[in-house]
Amino acid sequence: MHATEHRNFIAGEWVAGVRTHPNVNPSDTRDVVGEYALADAAQARTAIEAAHAAFPKWSVATPQQRADALDFIGSEILARKAELGDLLAREEGKTLPEGVGEATRAGHIFKFFAGEALRTGGELLPSVRPGVSVEITREPLGVVSIITPWNFPIAIPAWKIAPALAYGNCVVFKPAELVPGCAWAIAEIASRSGLPPGALNLVMGRGSQIGDTLVGDPRVAGVSFTGSVATGHRIAQSCVTRKEGGMAKFQLEMGGKNPLVVLDDADLATAVTCAVQGAFYSTGQRCTASSRLIVTERIHDRFVEALVAKTRSLVIDDARKAGTDIGPVVDERQLEQDLEYLAIARQEGATLAAGGERVERGAPGFYLTPAVLTHATNAMRSSREEIFGPVASVIRARDYDEALALANDSPMGLSSGVVTTSLKAAAHFKRNAQAGMVMVNLPTAGVDYHVPFGGRKASSFGPREQGRYAAEFYTTVKTAYVGA
Ligand code: NAP
Repeated sequence: MHATEHRNFIAGEWVAGVRTHPNVNPSDTRDVVGEYALADAAQARTAIEAAHAAFPKWSVATPQQRADALDFIGSEILARKAELGDLLAREEGKTLPEGVGEATRAGHIFKFFAGEALRTGGELLPSVRPGVSVEITREPLGVVSIITPWNFPIAIPAWKIAPALAYGNCVVFKPAELVPGCAWAIAEIASRSGLPPGALNLVMGRGSQIGDTLVGDPRVAGVSFTGSVATGHRIAQSCVTRKEGGMAKFQLEMGGKNPLVVLDDADLATAVTCAVQGAFYSTGQRCTASSRLIVTERIHDRFVEALVAKTRSLVIDDARKAGTDIGPVVDERQLEQDLEYLAIARQEGATLAAGGERVERGAPGFYLTPAVLTHATNAMRSSREEIFGPVASVIRARDYDEALALANDSPMGLSSGVVTTSLKAAAHFKRNAQAGMVMVNLPTAGVDYHVPFGGRKASSFGPREQGRYAAEFYTTVKTAYVGA
């Protein structure tokens, strides 16, 4: 294979795309990570065909075979976490520690699901009829299309591919066009893991060109998607209106507009750390980012002062440079979107208290200083729509009750946090926050890999991802009645 041409992986072979596409480093746009294949719809269909052909074999592979393949992938990712973390930082713009952390998490996820492959059980119940027993088992869906966003280029593919394979499905995996490097690395490792040809296929290509095929082909039984609300809705529509093959099962993880509530009794240092970590780390490009900081009256001014000081002290630079706190925005389009929302927020009456400026560093890149908007209200567009950048709005609340109401007043419901020293307030918030995940004295972003992940309202649709709950999506239940 050509040193810098990274091909698609279909039916166990490396296949050239119809074109290639340069993978560019957002910290230094002169640095091209490599050339990556772009598939067309015909190639996507070939990948689906390969997965379909592999299913009869992989679906009856022993739990040991599945566990061994996943354990191989997880072990190699962990052994190469420094290199893969560096690749991630280079293609996406997360800092090196964040990149290595994400690669480590991906390795752990594969190893977790290696264990789960051995633990897939069923239930045996007595029937209500004499002489009959009832067996409840889980079977794989078939071919699953996995479509992922650019902001977690190795962890999100891992948390979809690993359970899909663990439960016996065959996969067609399409990463976001901006980050093919980590996706290709996963496929390359998987190609040596003992998986049969066709069990995992990689098709790098534009969503606008191959997305409809990956979702609409009648041989695709399930679609697991993470990305924007708009693309998620489009996928949902295709899954339910398919002319052939019945509806596809689908799972959508979409945007967030996550609140971090800071109460009067909060420890100020904890509140500022949670806010800065949650809002700005990973350049704010996390679906769980704390984009709304809802702060009660008596701590408001002290919190804003400390937040602004801390934000101004952050080092914004090349993602792979030692000492960098915040890397670049992923690309020009996202940077323009961030600046546009900052302009809208100011037109709507918010004050830019810190950051929000495009800055130059040693190399051409997409650098934006993290922005704190004060005097924001929950009705502003910047408080309701996902910006997906290092931008946090501080919204003042009278008291706990108003803060909780504001936190819940959002079309989204992914993650919700509270900073407080009151057990009573924490317990009430945990119970009443309208979100899939609730954080107490922790940033809204940053989750474990062995427990369920997902949201409510416009943020998510379908069963939860990760942990044992992943079986809900990647398997279908069979109920068998057995007479004497
Ligand atoms: P996006 O534009 O929706 O893209 C996501 C994926 O969908 C990409 O692989 C994209 O391919 C593909 N796609 C685009 N059009 C498609 C179509 N018509 N059919 C099928 N697939 C299509 O989202 P993004 O900008 O990459 O990611 C940012 C979004 O992801 C944010 O809204 C963020 O909140 C969300 N996110 C959510 C979670 C969560 O778990 N809730 C986690 C992370 C990110 P191309 O790259 O080729 O366009």
